[in-house]
Amino acid sequence: MFSINGKTGLVGLIGWPVGHSFSPAMHNRAFDMTGANLVYVPLPTARDDLSAVVRALPKMGFVGANVTIPHKEKVIRFLDEISGDAKLIGAVNTISCVNGILKGYNTDGAGFLSALIEELHFNFTSAKVIVIGAGGAGRAVCVKVAEQPIASLKITDIDEERGRRLVNDIQENIPDRLVEFVPKEDSRLEQAIGESNLLVNATPCGMKKEDPCIIQEDWLHEGLTVYDLIYHRLTPLVDKSRKRGLTAEPGLSMLLYQAVLAFELWTGKKAPVDVMKRVLEEEIQK
Ligand code: NAP
Repeated sequence: MFSINGKTGLVGLIGWPVGHSFSPAMHNRAFDMTGANLVYVPLPTARDDLSAVVRALPKMGFVGANVTIPHKEKVIRFLDEISGDAKLIGAVNTISCVNGILKGYNTDGAGFLSALIEELHFNFTSAKVIVIGAGGAGRAVCVKVAEQPIASLKITDIDEERGRRLVNDIQENIPDRLVEFVPKEDSRLEQAIGESNLLVNATPCGMKKEDPCIIQEDWLHEGLTVYDLIYHRLTPLVDKSRKRGLTAEPGLSMLLYQAVLAFELWTGKKAPVDVMKRVLEEEIQK
């Protein structure tokens, strides 16, 4: 039975807003199940208060925190150390606090990889991957995908400069990977998708009920695995892909595994993945 005592440590969720988050329910159940004497609390933080809240974490008994919209990029300047992944991605979603030192990590990209490997049994060896969207989530996904023994990574974004910047950042840091930008013209994108065996949607397109399918339906082809980072609803992309008999998944498993990795950073224990998955499935039904 979950109880708080004089030795209970804290983990926070820094963002604005945070009321919609599934993380408090998921982590508190996981802490309870594993006997970690920790409690996970929302810390709604306005932009101007970010520095004060982050700097107060070690003084207030926090062993760590998650960071969400809109602070994932700005929080970096208030941390003492930052992992290589988080540096290249340019965003932090997890903080650990050990002996007063605040270290930032990004578990989104690694969470994506685990989701594909553990849940979809996707094999990245020689894979041809195309990612639509080079914002914060797209960067996290692409950086970790580029570290795999893939054949190629193609990136597209309606903001061409943002997409090309991500391609350049990966080429500079992981030079032996074939990474290229695909312009948004239909014919180029159709060809790139036709040559791929993993398509990832890392844009918000599909979040709203009225959103169209992000690509033309007839570009979906046999042998293509589809992963959509959106998890609040089944997007037209996932729905149409499944109707065509393709393996297609919404982003709930990525949300799960980024949390699994964060849990393991804070506690040093193996995360109760099945319990955390069940909580997420319960929360999404509410
Ligand atoms: P973001 O920073 O807004 O980046 C999205 C990028 O995609 C932007 O560059 C955007 O360009 C571009 N874009 C939008 N519509 C497009 C289209 N139709 N074709 C090509 N590019 C398009 O968003 P984010 O924070 O990276 O998040 C992206 C999605 O991932 C969101 O739905 C978010 O909820 C989800 N997410 C899921 C997880 C998970 O654990 N499953 C984790 C993080 C994020 P403009 O800015 O010019 O529109």
